[in-house]
Amino acid sequence: MNTNPGNRETGQTPLSPQSPQPPMISVRGLHKWFGELHVLRGIDLDVDRSEVVTVIGSSGSGKSTLLRCVNYLERPQKGRVAIGGKPVEDTEWAINAMRTKVGMVFQHFNLFPHMTVLGNVIEGPTQVLGKSKDEAVETARAYLDKVGLSDKVDVWPSQLSGGQKQRVAIARALAMEPEAILFDEPTSALDPELVGEVLAVMKELAAEGMTMVVVTHEMGFAREVADTVYFMDEGVILEQGTPEQVFGQPREDRTRAFLAQVL
Ligand code: ADP
Ligand code: MG
Repeated sequence: MNTNPGNRETGQTPLSPQSPQPPMISVRGLHKWFGELHVLRGIDLDVDRSEVVTVIGSSGSGKSTLLRCVNYLERPQKGRVAIGGKPVEDTEWAINAMRTKVGMVFQHFNLFPHMTVLGNVIEGPTQVLGKSKDEAVETARAYLDKVGLSDKVDVWPSQLSGGQKQRVAIARALAMEPEAILFDEPTSALDPELVGEVLAVMKELAAEGMTMVVVTHEMGFAREVADTVYFMDEGVILEQGTPEQVFGQPREDRTRAFLAQVL
């Protein structure tokens, strides 16, 4: 649940109980098997508009698979995902339509190596959204400026640091003007001195009201920025709450053991 009273940017009051908005992302009873391996074992998760959710948990607990099932990079075998109250149908058309609303940022950036920075950022808007090149370039420049890379527009990804690559990946996601962005350990592949620049961009997005689901080992970020923290363990959400609850007074032994290792 979002404990934030309304949109951070506009200061709007929450909608009245008579007109409840559906969650931006809603996951119910999600199961995923890889062969015999039962990786997600009944996940329920709601993310409200402008809510920042972080998902923490040990390696192998299913965090990436959960994100990948939310935007159907993996097909869940059971359960459902709804975006903005609309169930995602399992057709190519519906999945592609949904992906324009839900962006994703990966641990290893996944930039197109044969395209310049600008090329990376205009690809989706021109190819998927059907924007004109001029319009896409204008928007791309604005987002590259926002992530502090206006001087890197014409360089190749191979010429960038990891932190810069990840900021391009964020600009690329933003250029699709998504309603939510999923981040899968966006700083885990970075040298420690480059983590801060990426987290700073993410904090700014959060403050502007972007709906975000962030799988992360950055407990400082989770504590400071998240509205809700989910602790995943062996394919289930074992515990969820505000950062104060989960970090300050974890209910489950497994959560305590995990936090003792990472904090
Ligand atoms: P986390 O992101 O929490 O580290 P993952 O979601 O990546 O966990 O993985 C959960 C489990 O699923 C692991 O045991 C992993 O080996 C397995 N797994 C993930 N992706 C695949 C795949 N494509 N094929 C087979 N097994 C997979
Ligand atoms: Mg992972």
